[in-house]
Amino acid sequence: MSEDSDVAERLRQLPSVDRLLGLAAAGELVAGYGRPLALEGLRAALDRRRAAIRAGQTGAPPDEALLDDARRWLEETVAPTLRPVINATGVIVHTNLGRAPLSRAALAAIQVAAAGYANLEYDLAAGERGSRTVHAEALLTRLTGAEAALAVNNNAAAVLLMLTALCRGKEVVISRGQLVEIGGGFRVPDVMAQSGARLVEVGTTNRTHLRDYATAINENTAAILVAHHSNFKIVGFTAEPALAELAELAHEHHLPLLYDQGSGALLDTTPFGLDPEPTVPASLAAGVDVVAFSGDKLLGGPQAGILCGRAGLIQQLKRHPLARAVRADKLCLAALSATLTHYLTDQATREIPVWQMIARPLAEIAAQAGSWAAQLQEMGLAAGVIPGESTVGGGSLPGATLPTRLVAIAHPHVEELAATLRAHDPPVIGRIAGDRLLLDPRTVLPGQERTVAQAVVAASGRVTRIED
Ligand SMILES: *Cc1c(COP(=O)(O)O)cnc(C)c1O
Repeated sequence: MSEDSDVAERLRQLPSVDRLLGLAAAGELVAGYGRPLALEGLRAALDRRRAAIRAGQTGAPPDEALLDDARRWLEETVAPTLRPVINATGVIVHTNLGRAPLSRAALAAIQVAAAGYANLEYDLAAGERGSRTVHAEALLTRLTGAEAALAVNNNAAAVLLMLTALCRGKEVVISRGQLVEIGGGFRVPDVMAQSGARLVEVGTTNRTHLRDYATAINENTAAILVAHHSNFKIVGFTAEPALAELAELAHEHHLPLLYDQGSGALLDTTPFGLDPEPTVPASLAAGVDVVAFSGDKLLGGPQAGILCGRAGLIQQLKRHPLARAVRADKLCLAALSATLTHYLTDQATREIPVWQMIARPLAEIAAQAGSWAAQLQEMGLAAGVIPGESTVGGGSLPGATLPTRLVAIAHPHVEELAATLRAHDPPVIGRIAGDRLLLDPRTVLPGQERTVAQAVVAASGRVTRIED
C-alpha cells in the first residue's frame, strides 16, 4: 500500500461525529455542556486527529481517546479567563493582579447583595424610589469630614466627572509637574481634554510657585486642579505650594480647588515606617473643595472612584448626565460600605487585607520565608532568605518601601522556572533578580503559604526535566 492510501485508510477508520454521539460518554458531554458546544468539541477532537494522521504521527485512536480529547477541549473552552493567582511579588496594591483583595465582611456584603434584591434605589420608609448615592455617603462624610460624597465606577471616572461637570468649556490651572501619566492610559492632560476643560499649565517640571497660579487666573478660569504625582517622584530642587495656600488663592477668586488624590489614604502611613501620604481628611481640612480618589488602592476596598467635598459641588456632580454613565453598581456599594465600616470601627489594620499586609510584622514575614527556604532546601533547591523590600504600589507612595524578607531561589534557568510557576494552578507570580527568583511572603494571603512551596518544588522538577 502506498503511503497516501495508508493515510487515507487511517482517516477512514476515524468514527463519524454521529457514531461518537451514540456513546454513553458523549451523552454525558451533551448533558454537561449542551449539544451545540459538545458537538463542536467532538469535531475539534476529530480535526486534531485528522491533522495528526496527515502528519504521519498516529493511527486512528480508540473512541475513548477522542472523547477524552473532546472533554479537555470543552473544559478549556468554558474555563474562566479571569483566574485567582498568588501574588508573591511583594507589591501590595498590584494593579495588574487586581489591586486590593477584599475583607471578609466586604465579601459577605457582596454575596448578600448579589444573591437577591436590595433597596439600591428604594426608600423603604417612604415606599418609593430612592437614591443609590445614599448608601456609602454617610460613611464617607463621617470618615472624611466632607459635607457630601459620591461613589462612581473608578477614580478615572471620578476625575472625568469632576472636570466635566465643573469645568467644561473653561480653563483649569495645573502645575506642569503634575501632568502625569499613571499607566493604563490615564494621563491627566488627556482626561482634561476629554472633559472639555482647557488645560492651563503653570510653573516648570520641578518648581511651581503660588504666584504662577495667581498669574494664570482670569475670568475664564473654572478651577485650580492638583494631581497627586502617583507613581513617580521629583527629587532635588523642587517646589510646590501647599494645599492650604492653593485653597486660599482659589477661594480669593471664588474658584474651587480640585484634587485628584489617586490612592486616597484614610489612615496615616507613617506609623508603619512609610513616607507620609496625604490623607483625605487632611486634604479637605486644608481647604480642598472636591477630592477624588480610588476605592481599591490604599482604601483597600472594591474598584470605585470616590468624590468628597462641598455639598453644592457634589450636588452638581450627582445631577450631571455623566454621573449616570459612571455610577457604581450594588456590589461595589455593598463592598465599599463594608470596607468603610472597618475604618469607622477602628478595625482597618485588623480586617482590611491591604492594611494587614502593610502592618505585617517583619518577624512573621521572616518566619514564613525561613519555612519556605527550609522546605525548598530539603527538596535540593538552592534557596535562602535575603533582606529585601516590599512596595505599596497602586500609584501611592512612590519610592516608599517596607523592609521584608524574601526567599531567593538560585536557578540556572530562572526565566523558565518563573514561567512554569505562572503555568501552575493557581499561578504563582514572583520577581526575578539576576539568576534568582524572589518570593515575598508579605503579599501571599493566609491559606496560600503551602501552595507556594509546593508549586516551586513542582515547577523546579518540571524545569529540570525539560533540561534533560
Ligand atoms: C490611580 C490613579 C488614578 C486612576 O484611578 P482608577 O481608580 O485606577 O481609575 C487617577 N489619578 C491618580 C493620581 C491615580 O493615582
